[in-house]
Amino acid sequence: MRCDQCDSKITGTPVKTATRTLCKKCGDRLDGLTAGVMSGGGVGEAIATAGWYSSLREKRREAREKKRTSGSST
Ligand SMILES: [Zn+2]
Repeated sequence: MRCDQCDSKITGTPVKTATRTLCKKCGDRLDGLTAGVMSGGGVGEAIATAGWYSSLREKRREAREKKRTSGSST
């Protein structure tokens, strides 16, 4: 099975959209694009958001880790 976006072989779980099958990487990007479009920023901002979104995901995970280890609840 190949990704419809980047045409590379999908090794993990494929991300299925209404019309396409994507690899995880492209699926994540698409999530970001969708978030950007929904926030009303248009395509340019949507593309920027795609990158922002994946880094936000990392930050969120870090924050969650910190919260758990420090034991503080805000
Ligand atoms: Zn892909």
